[in-house]
Amino acid sequence: MKSVQVAVVGAGVIGLSTAVCIAEALPLCAVTLLAERFSPDTTSDGAAGLLFAAEFPDIPLERQRRWFKDSFDHLWAIARSQHSPEAGVMLSSGWQIFKEVPADKKPFWSDFVIGFRRMTDRELKPFPNHKFGQAFTTIKCECSSYLPWLEKRFRKAGGQVQQTKVSSLQELSNIYDIIVNCSGLGSKMLVDDTQVYPVRGQVLKVEAPWLQHFIRAGDGMTYIYPGIHGVTLGGTRQEGDWRLQVDEGDTKSILERCSELEPSLSKCKVLSKWVGLRPSRRNPRVERELVQLQGHRVPVVHNYGHGAWGVTLSWGTALDALGLVRQCLHEMHLHAKL
Ligand SMILES: Cc1cc2nc3c(=O)[nH]c(=O)nc-3n(C[C@H](O)[C@H](O)[C@H](O)COP(=O)(O)OP(=O)(O)OC[C@H]3O[C@@H](n4cnc5c(N)ncnc54)[C@H](O)[C@@H]3O)c2cc1C
Repeated sequence: MKSVQVAVVGAGVIGLSTAVCIAEALPLCAVTLLAERFSPDTTSDGAAGLLFAAEFPDIPLERQRRWFKDSFDHLWAIARSQHSPEAGVMLSSGWQIFKEVPADKKPFWSDFVIGFRRMTDRELKPFPNHKFGQAFTTIKCECSSYLPWLEKRFRKAGGQVQQTKVSSLQELSNIYDIIVNCSGLGSKMLVDDTQVYPVRGQVLKVEAPWLQHFIRAGDGMTYIYPGIHGVTLGGTRQEGDWRLQVDEGDTKSILERCSELEPSLSKCKVLSKWVGLRPSRRNPRVERELVQLQGHRVPVVHNYGHGAWGVTLSWGTALDALGLVRQCLHEMHLHAKL
């Protein structure tokens, strides 16, 4: 019989990954996923989904390396399996190019992607204003397929799903023994976190099946990511901007910047336009705390605030959250014995 009730709040890539990890590893837990929005209506659904990361300032690099490696290895195994087309996970090769030689020529994740190396002069020739580049193969994870695939996997492991807006942790504390908070930007309201803020991102999907390699400008502002359902062109990074409407000024600027890098895009057909708000924070919050709710202390595990790198770090941080849930269970067991 399942003896511990666990609530996971949030059905983006972080909540679903975390819910799957807990439901599969801890059969004694009855896991319920509660969310206001599900695929295709989460931020995660529109992410370009390329595995790639920048460093967070205050998290030990070893931990960030583990998050990246665990996520990469998990998704690479899916890309190599028969699940790849349904899960929307594939390998993607290409270039990151820089106008100036960066101080850090070898990012912390360079050992985990495949075949990371410096671009040759010949490869750089099509990008005349760029002095330096990195070539590698990474993963592209298309969340509009991956999230439904994860949800199926979660249900198969016995998980329950409920569509609801949680207005406070209080309302969960009578039913659930452990609460796992994966509500992204929603944490601003749900746990009063004033450190989470939106970074608006606009992208376009275009028809350009001749493009097979990704191209990313080193500053992260302009990118061309070929995928299963068209090529994603980006982007924008507007801090503190809550607008979810498409901005035609941004559309024009994205098309111009991408066509400069890849002139064959100048006449391509735009299939769709999309805006999402990255749930940003100086550092993601992956930790546990005891919260006083309705007169008793309830263990809460947080996993949110991944900013521009939520898909990249999703499985690694979900495994950390699973470890934190295990610690909560251990403490509950000790208390029950006292
Ligand atoms: C344009 C763009 C491009 C991107 N490209 C990449 C990329 O190439 N690689 C990469 O790694 N990342 C990328 N990202 C970042 C990535 O999208 C995010 O980091 C990731 O989606 C965060 O996932 P999440 O699950 O935390 O949040 P979300 O997907 O926003 O999910 C939050 C969930 O919590 C639920 N929720 C919130 N509050 C409540 C509440 N009170 N009650 C119930 N449910 C609640 C929501 O309904 C939703 O289900 C990109 C983002 C944008 C905008």
